[in-house]
Formats: sequence, structure tokens, C-alpha cells
Amino acid sequence: MSTTGKINVQTENIFPIIKKFLYSDNEIFLRELVSNATDATQKLKALTSMGEAKGELGDLKIEVKVDKAAKTITIKDKGIGMTAEEIEKYITQIAFSGAEEFVQKYQDKVDKNVVIGHFGLGFYSAFMVAQKVEIFSLSYKEGSKAVRWECDGSPEYQIEEITTKTDRGTEIVLHVAEDSLEFLENSKIEGLLKKYCKFLPVEIVFGTKKDWIPSGEKDEKGIEKEKEIEVENIINNPVPAWVKKPADLKDEDYKAFYRELYPMQFEEPLFHIHLNVDYPFNLTGILYFPKLSNKFEAPKDRIQLYSNQVFVTDNVENIVPDFLTMLRGVIDSPDIPLNVSRSYLQADGNVKKISAHITKKVADKLEEIFKKERPDFEAKWDDVKIFVQYGMISDEKFYEKAVKFALVKNTEAKAFTLEEYEAHVKANQTDKDGKIVFLYATNTDEQHTYIDAAKSRGYDVLLMDSPLDAHFINHLESKLNNTQFVRVDSDTVEKLIKKEDAQVSKLTEDEQKTLKPIVEGVVAKEKYTVVFESFLLC
Ligand code: ADP
Repeated sequence: MSTTGKINVQTENIFPIIKKFLYSDNEIFLRELVSNATDATQKLKALTSMGEAKGELGDLKIEVKVDKAAKTITIKDKGIGMTAEEIEKYITQIAFSGAEEFVQKYQDKVDKNVVIGHFGLGFYSAFMVAQKVEIFSLSYKEGSKAVRWECDGSPEYQIEEITTKTDRGTEIVLHVAEDSLEFLENSKIEGLLKKYCKFLPVEIVFGTKKDWIPSGEKDEKGIEKEKEIEVENIINNPVPAWVKKPADLKDEDYKAFYRELYPMQFEEPLFHIHLNVDYPFNLTGILYFPKLSNKFEAPKDRIQLYSNQVFVTDNVENIVPDFLTMLRGVIDSPDIPLNVSRSYLQADGNVKKISAHITKKVADKLEEIFKKERPDFEAKWDDVKIFVQYGMISDEKFYEKAVKFALVKNTEAKAFTLEEYEAHVKANQTDKDGKIVFLYATNTDEQHTYIDAAKSRGYDVLLMDSPLDAHFINHLESKLNNTQFVRVDSDTVEKLIKKEDAQVSKLTEDEQKTLKPIVEGVVAKEKYTVVFESFLLC
């Protein structure tokens, strides 16, 4: 006898699953909730400018508060708010993204990028740290009633009308779970806000901070005294440099933004590249060339990836080519899929295009400086050299561009492009097979006698002493088919560049016949055989 059964799939409690699998990083709950608050605020602004929302916008700052005694974290916005129906629809029907619907409805009217919500299950990430979540919301729509929604992580939830909320917008209250109490520390929350929300487009307030302002009173020396006041602690800069137009920014502004990004960096960047693409993908950002030391160090201050001003990661591996990870700065693109694995990223078409675009931009910028400000380029070369060489070795497209401006320096520190150098040494350093020989030293002190010998023959010697030079030489040899690199101490100076056919002295057979007995007469005949070899003329 057989029976058929049905597996009963029950979503008894989906939240443990969310907690475990949805995000590996539980701290991103704050990013998700503050992003939602930002979206709600941006939507309200958009609706107001279209005339669809009436009434005063007022102060639109988002507030984040921690109440340690009550064990709550509150995220409060003054955005569009939600009616009871909207909460049921957008919040309760998980994975139904209101953001998608909003964009579809208003697609022609608003910039899709105004709306961040593409993180899918964003709101539910709250349950990674909370055992109960409450929503208090009042929609911007006229005649709306305020609502309170509550859910403790089971599929049941309560929703009710309330009269206690009278201001427009949404308040999310997280009742922090016992295993996540570390999130009740002000310093922890402030740290997370600074990490993820530092450049969100709406101001975020987290408590207050002390500030000093002129008091209006003077001290005994007649100097105006300052007084201490409490001011709102605003976490973010809503209009970071990369969202501005390059034409509106001066060199000083770019440097100031670099310090804003990396407050612990005291060294100034060498130069910057402002990225700004809107077709076929969206990409903005500013990349900086840092002063790199000659050593390869694991970079601490890395490129930061944002999506509509929300920080995503500072691990841009697989998004930009390896050699570009040595740069610093910001890339902002809503077109990079975020919550997917890195191996998937590598295969993603948009990511590939973005990566190729950045490579091209970087090469173009270097070429521009090379062409327009050659002395400056030469001065900075030692700092960018390792980066350019790495790029040329690892990226074919970059090589094609960089081969025109990559420099080599000789032992007298004179800089040449590869083409210039070839022209410089061609006449004197072409060997018998027509190959141009680039002589190089790896250490001017240790190899100085060889260098001097080569110079005394009128040869030029390059200095190739950086850690990548050996690879770079190999790579150039495989690319430039008529060039050979020879280390200056690899042979005696006569043999460094073999020019036998042209400059060699040879004895004729008659001369050999005459000379042989004479030489054999001098050296003991039984012990030595005399053979004549050609030698290079000095
Ligand atoms: P997503 O942000 O990807 O749409 P979420 O689960 O984070 O997904 O949010 C679902 C929907 O709930 C949002 O699209 C939005 O319509 C609504 N929502 C969430 N937070 C707020 C808020 N603070 N104010 C207004 N609506 C919100």
C-alpha cells in the first residue's frame, strides 16, 4: 500500500532565516533603514516639486536615536510616510518592493536614481538585531490616519490606527535583541552611520555635539571670547564632491574631499579623475592617485563603492581591475548589483563595462597630463610608475594606451618614452641582428664599474630598480619585437651588444699562417694550441 503525501511548507518563522542567511553582515540593518528613510524623503521632495504633494516640506532631517535603558534604536524620517494599506502592501508582503512600483509609476517624471530602494528585503534586515519592530507612520496624503504596526518576528503582526503621531513621516523603532546589545552603544551606531551614511543625500542627525561660537564678549586683551554650545550632530555631507559638476570644483575642493574621505591621510594625492557617465550605464565618482611607496603594501585606504550615495563596500575587487585597486576615491553606481556574490560580479556585463570604462579614463587622464604638463608628469613619474607598469603588465587595453606615455629613466635621471628612448640609442646600440639593445642597471652603486664601462663606449644605461621592473622588462620584450634588454653587468662590455660583423677585426688566412709560428714560438708548443679568434674593437 502506498500513500502520497505533501510536504507542508510552513513559514513558521522566517526571521531566523533572514537573520542567518540574508546578510552575512548584521550591521547593514542601519544602512537599509536609513536608506529607506532617505528614499521616503526624496520621494516627498519629488512629489512636491511635481505638485502632487501639498503642504510644507519643513525640516527634512532624518533622526537616529538610541535609548539604552529602553533598549531601542529609532530611525525617524519626515518623508512620505505610509498609510495602513501601504504598510500591509509594502512591508507585510515581503519582497514587494514599493520602490519598484514608485519608479514604474513615475518613470518619466523622476530620476530613477533618486530612489535608493533596490536592496529588496531591506526593511526585514531590522530583524537581524531586533526581537520586535514597531512602525509609526503618517502619510503625506491628505486626510491620512497615523498607524502603528508591530511585529515580533513571527508571521503575525498587529496594525492599528493611532492618534499620538501627528507629524508626517515614519518612525521605525527596533527593540534590540539580547544577542545584539552592542548596537545600543552610541559610539557603535555613530560609527556605523559614519561608515554607511556619510554621504547620503539627506541630512542625518545623531544626538548633539559641542561646538564653539563667538560669544560677543571680549577678554581683558580685547580678544573676542568663544562660548560652548550644543549643536545637532550631523553625520553626513549630503552633497559630496563627486555629485557636483567638475566645472564647479577647484583643485582645492578635490583635495579637501580627499581629506574628508581619508581623514587619517596626511599625504596629498598626486592627481584626481572625476568620473561622470550616464550612458550606457550610470557611474560617477572621483579617483585619486595616491603617492605610492615603492613597496607593495596592502592598501588600508581603499576605493569606496557607493550606490546612490549609500556606502556599499570598500572591497572593489572584481569591480575594478586589480591594478586600479591601488587608487583611492569613490565610485558610485546604481548599476552594480550589490547583494550578489563576487564571482557573479565578475561575470556581470555592467560591471565589465564599468571596469573597462574606468581603465580607459585612468589611461586618458595620464596621457592628458603627459601631453599637457610633461614636466609635472616626469616629476610624478616615480610615484605613478609602479601603478602604470602593473597596469601595462596586467591589462592589454591599458598597455595599448600607456605604452605611449610610460617613461624610462637613464642613470642620469633623464626621462624618455619608450619611443624616444629607442630613437636615442638606435644608432649606437643596434646589434648585428638589427635588434636594438636597451642596456640597464638595477643598482647604480653595485654596478657602477659596468655602467662606466658602457658609457665610455658611448652607450646609454637605463635604471630599472623598482620591484616590478623585472616583470616589466619581460613584458616589454614580448611586446616590442625589435628590442632586447641586457643587464649592464651580464657580460663584458665588448659582448653586451654583439656587433661582430660590422666592427670585428679578423685576420686573413695568410696573416694567420705568418703569425702562428711566431706565437707558437713564444708559448710552449707542446702545451698550447694556438687558435685565432676575432675580437671586438675598442
Ligand atoms: P526596498 O527598499 O528595496 O523597496 P524594503 O523592504 O526596504 O525594500 O522596503 C519596502 C517598501 O516599504 C519600500 O519600497 C517603501 O515603499 C516602504 N518603506 C520602507 N521604509 C519606509 C519609510 N521609512 N517611509 C516610507 N516608506 C517606507
